[in-house]
Amino acid sequence: MNETRILIVDDDEALLEALPEALRLRMNGIAVDTAATAFDALERIRDVDYDAIVSDIKMPGMDGLELLTEIKQLRPGTPTLLITGHGEHDLAVRALRGGAYDFVQKPIDREYFFASLERAIRMRRLDRRVEEQRVELEQHARVLQHVDRGVFLVDDAGVVRYWNPAAAAITGLDAESVLGSAADGAIPGWATIGPTVPVATEPGPGSVDARTLPFEIDGRELWLSISGVKFEDGVVYAFRNLTEERALEELKSDFIATVSHELRTPLAAIYGCARTLLRPDLRLGDEDASRLLEVIAQESERLTRIVADILLANQLDAGRLRLTDQEVDMAGVARDVVDEMRATLDGRQDITLEMVGSVERLLVTGDEDRLRQVLLNLVDNAVKYSPDGGRVQVELARRDNGLRISVSDEGLGIPHGELQRIFGKFYRVDPQQTRGVGGTGLGLYICRELVRRMEGRVWVTSREGQGSTFIVDLPLAPAPARQPQPA
Ligand code: ADP
Repeated sequence: MNETRILIVDDDEALLEALPEALRLRMNGIAVDTAATAFDALERIRDVDYDAIVSDIKMPGMDGLELLTEIKQLRPGTPTLLITGHGEHDLAVRALRGGAYDFVQKPIDREYFFASLERAIRMRRLDRRVEEQRVELEQHARVLQHVDRGVFLVDDAGVVRYWNPAAAAITGLDAESVLGSAADGAIPGWATIGPTVPVATEPGPGSVDARTLPFEIDGRELWLSISGVKFEDGVVYAFRNLTEERALEELKSDFIATVSHELRTPLAAIYGCARTLLRPDLRLGDEDASRLLEVIAQESERLTRIVADILLANQLDAGRLRLTDQEVDMAGVARDVVDEMRATLDGRQDITLEMVGSVERLLVTGDEDRLRQVLLNLVDNAVKYSPDGGRVQVELARRDNGLRISVSDEGLGIPHGELQRIFGKFYRVDPQQTRGVGGTGLGLYICRELVRRMEGRVWVTSREGQGSTFIVDLPLAPAPARQPQPA
C-alpha cells in the first residue's frame, strides 16, 4: 500500500516544524506536507489525495473553517482535524458541524492528537479499501452483465440469487421469475438435472469439464453445456447454449443414417439385377431379362429422385431456389396427380385413390411444378404409409380467401409426439413404428418449405392406427401479399 501522507496547515512556523518532526518519530513511514496558509493548502489538496489533513482554525486570510468547507467540496472523504485555541468551545462545535473529523485544543495534547490522527488515517484507509472493492465488484457485475454465457448463483438453501442477462436470453426465463425462487421450481428440470451438473470445489479454468445436458423450457428443448464452481455461499453455474450445434450434429448423423440406407437399397437391387443379367451360366428368356431391366430402370429412377430431393433441400436451405409466379388451377393439378398416382398403383388393389369435393377451377398464384411436387409427395406418403390399404382421398375446398387441400388416408397414422417433428429435415419416425417403410425424411421438409415460399401452410392431424390428414392452405389468386401495390 502507498505510504501515508498527511498535510498540516498552520501559520505558526514553530508548530509547522515541531509537529511534523514529532509525527515522523511516532508514525513509521509517514510523509508530512506543510502549508502556511489555507490558499497554499488548497493548492496541495487539489494535487494530492491526503490520508488526513490537520489545520489550525485561526489563520489570517482564509481561516480553518472556510478551509474545511473547501475541503468538503474538493475531497469529501478526507478526514480533517482542526486545532482550536484553548476554551474555544463554540469554534470546536462549529468545526464538528462543518464536517471536521475531530478537534484538538491548544496546547496540543500530543497523545490525544496522535491517537485521533491515527484513527482518522485508519478510517480513511478503510474507506478507500471499501471503495476499491466496490468498484471492483461493480466491474465484475458489469462483466457478468455482458458476457455471452449464462451465469447464475444458487445459494446453499437452493435459492437462485443471481441470474445474468445472458441466462435470461438463452433460457427465456427472465430474472424476475427466477430470482429469490427455489432453483428446483424456477428452472424446469433442475431437480433432476441439477445434481448431475459437474461442480468444481476450486475456482479456476479447467478444474472441471462442463457437461452438455438437455433442458425443456416452455416446450423448447435446450442443450446447455454447463458446469459450476462451489463458493462459500453456494454454487455459481455458467453455461453455453449448444442447442444449434447439437441439432446440426443430429442432422448430420440422421443424414448419414437415412441417406446411406436409402441409397443402399436401390443400389443393391440394381447391382443384383445387373449381375444376374451378366451370369454366363444363366440363359434368361426375353421376358425375364426385360423384367430385370425394368427393375434397374425403376431403381435408378428412385436413386435419381433421392439425389434430386437432397439437392432441392439444399437449395431451399441456401435460399437459392427460384419459384415461378403464375396462376395455377389447383383442381387441375390435383386431378393430374391423382391420375398419375393411380397409374402407379397397379399392384395395390387394396388402395382406393379418389378426388372428392369441388372440381371447379381454383386459381392460386405459385409455381405449378412445385405445387404438383407437394401434392405428389403427400399422396405418395398416404399410399406408402397405408400398408394395409384403405381409402386415400384428395379434397379441395374454398376457405375465406384461401384454398384448402386435404390429403387423407386410413393408414398407420402418426404418434402424437411426432406430429411436429416429421416436417424436420431428414426426420423419419422410427421404422419399427412404420413397418419398415423406406424414405429419406426429406419429403415433408421439402413440402413445408415450398408451401411456405408460396405464402401457404402445411400441417397434419392424425390418429395412430387410424390414419392421417395432411392439409395445405394456400391463398387464392391474386394472393393478398402479391397484389400489385397502387402507384
Ligand atoms: P419419408 O417418407 O421419406 O420418410 P417424409 O418427410 O415424407 O419422409 O415423412 C417423414 C415421416 O413422416 C415419415 O418417416 C413417416 O413416418 C411420417 N409420415 C409421412 N406421411 C405419413 C402418412 N401419410 N402416414 C403416416 N406417417 C406419415
